[in-house]
Amino acid sequence: GGFKRFSTATALEELIVPTVQISYTQNLIDGKFVDAASGKTFPTYDPRTGEVIAHVAEGDAEDINCAVSAARKAFDEGPWPKMTPYERSRILLRFADLVEKHSEELAALETWNNGKPHEQAAKSELPLLIRLFHYYAGWADKIHGLTVPADGPHHVQTLHEPIGVAGQIIPWNFPLIMFAWKVGPALACGNTIVLKTAEQTPLTALYVAKLFHEAGLPPGVLNVVSGYGPTAGAALASHMDVDKVAFTGSTDTGKIVLELAAKSNLKPVTLELGGKSPFIVCEDADVDKAVELAHFALFFNQGQCCCAGSRTFVHERVYDEFLEKAKARALRRVVGDPFKKGVEQGPQIDSQQFEKVLRYIRSGIESNATLECGGGRLGTRGYFIQPTVFSNVTDDMLIAKEEIFGPVQSILKFKDLDEVIRRANTTRYGLAAGVFTKNIDTANTLTRALRTGTVWINCFDVFDAAIPFGGYKMSGIGREKGIYSLHNYLQVKAVVTPLKNTAWL
Ligand code: NAD
Repeated sequence: GGFKRFSTATALEELIVPTVQISYTQNLIDGKFVDAASGKTFPTYDPRTGEVIAHVAEGDAEDINCAVSAARKAFDEGPWPKMTPYERSRILLRFADLVEKHSEELAALETWNNGKPHEQAAKSELPLLIRLFHYYAGWADKIHGLTVPADGPHHVQTLHEPIGVAGQIIPWNFPLIMFAWKVGPALACGNTIVLKTAEQTPLTALYVAKLFHEAGLPPGVLNVVSGYGPTAGAALASHMDVDKVAFTGSTDTGKIVLELAAKSNLKPVTLELGGKSPFIVCEDADVDKAVELAHFALFFNQGQCCCAGSRTFVHERVYDEFLEKAKARALRRVVGDPFKKGVEQGPQIDSQQFEKVLRYIRSGIESNATLECGGGRLGTRGYFIQPTVFSNVTDDMLIAKEEIFGPVQSILKFKDLDEVIRRANTTRYGLAAGVFTKNIDTANTLTRALRTGTVWINCFDVFDAAIPFGGYKMSGIGREKGIYSLHNYLQVKAVVTPLKNTAWL
């Protein structure tokens, strides 16, 4: 039935032509678009077809050097860190307004370069980005130190100062949202930035960085360099003039970034890394609702979420019903051209990720998990994968242990709470967890027992600007968003003055 309709000709062959122009492909350094110092470019693709859509300046160590010099000068000489916080706040707000004005082009560009459903980019991700800049614009003039009690005759205060030049390295799964999580708090605190985008998705960050300059951001405050990880990314993480590095991506690369930071100037590092998040369906669950939420938790964004609910634990009492309905839901999932209305799933980002996901599917089959549906490629071009469901998954299988980062749901059976707590926590990751129950005691027990940076109860993927996000264990170091992100971009200075000629402390 529904299974066949993934591969209809209209879904994958008559592709909608995006209505946006690709205007910015050079690096943005010191307020100007410039070619790479080497003159090199690299191709960027449309994941629907694998065809090249633009050639982009390929930044490497030399371009990172130029960008860091510009950021250093903009920090040391100002005006940005010396402007009043209110002036900085106004620029962040003007930027958010410009993003709103250009939302349509931006959503189209995001879909074109990334393959995510256009409705998702336009209706959910761009509003989130705008909201996040409103949120941090609100913080810009509310960051201040304390007056501290002293033991002796001293007046003691703390100054919360920007940390300096921030190096930021982002992944390809949410190019604009990752830009926002990094740039919003760093600018609100008065830092300057060199941002390296993911090589798969360089286009939208260049576009919004241009809007930032239109909004009045001084040159050199936000520099954007496109390029590869081992060249441009490594140069940024190891740069002696970069005061802080923030990274989102895989755990393996996170280790490299931490090491590069340690070996150079010991710059502090925040890391948002991988996950293998449990989604726990308890025995009292309304099965229809649980199926829908578990489906969303895994399949959202083609399964390319660091917090994807990639281990669906289902209580044995509802397991059979859940499984049948989860399979039916996956078969109904609409896969096709992400520009088409109603399409829920587009292509994976590139051939490398596509092959990797298919390898994990083969590994699931070989390890004797039951393939309930999907399991293969969709169509003959681009990187589309059938929504795939495995049942009878056990904890020792690779598909239950490693991050697949694709549309592959693994369903595991459990008997009681103690067991599921132990199994859910038996992973090197600790990014997020989902809990589905009507019982408040169960919810409270799981909330406290799960060792993850987020627990979503009867919801999933709620990403308000004020909610902190980050990982326990090997899912990362530090938190982004909310008030917590500000600490990543501030230094605390203690200022001590003797109190003379007074009896008052
Ligand atoms: P990655 O970690 O290699 O890339 C993320 C960013 O790091 C990119 O900008 C990349 O250019 C940069 N980078 C790569 N090597 C670097 C180095 N040596 N020094 C500095 N920067 C470097 O991730 P990937 O290869 O795109 O994806 C691999 C896996 O990572 C995925 O399959 C998925 O499991 C995971 N991933 C996680 C997230 C997340 O949000 N946590 C995002 C994307 C990918």
